[in-house]
Amino acid sequence: MLIPARMSEAEEQRWVTVMLDKLAAQESKRALGDGDLAERAQQLSEQYFGGRARPASVRWVTNQNTRWGSCTPAEGSIRLSHRLQGMPEYVIDYVLCHELAHLLVPGHGPRFWRLLEAYPRTERARGYLEGVVAADRLPHVPGARSE
Ligand SMILES: [Zn+2]
Repeated sequence: MLIPARMSEAEEQRWVTVMLDKLAAQESKRALGDGDLAERAQQLSEQYFGGRARPASVRWVTNQNTRWGSCTPAEGSIRLSHRLQGMPEYVIDYVLCHELAHLLVPGHGPRFWRLLEAYPRTERARGYLEGVVAADRLPHVPGARSE
């Protein structure tokens, strides 16, 4: 595995985690359509929020590059960035849970995060997404990335 130079040990650890997760994601790659996404959201709502979060629509969008997901509570609509496609399932589940939680609690106050604690992989998924952002900011090193 090629690792870009000038990374701190912590960054390197994160990079390795991200790359391993990417490999795992490729192995179990299963593109979710909008219908699957809505179904998944319903399952997660039942599993972690007692079915209280009931989105009216859940779909992928391609115009969202700075946010992983967003929701409009008044409409009950949830949108996920297409950039999540191909990431591990637990990361997509986390973003879905995050937006589902926003249907119940707006903003990112203590009540919001307490609600999200129900999803057991919140910390790991947040670390993964932070790693993706950090990796995107690195200077391009020939061979270190597939793009
Ligand atoms: Zn949020």
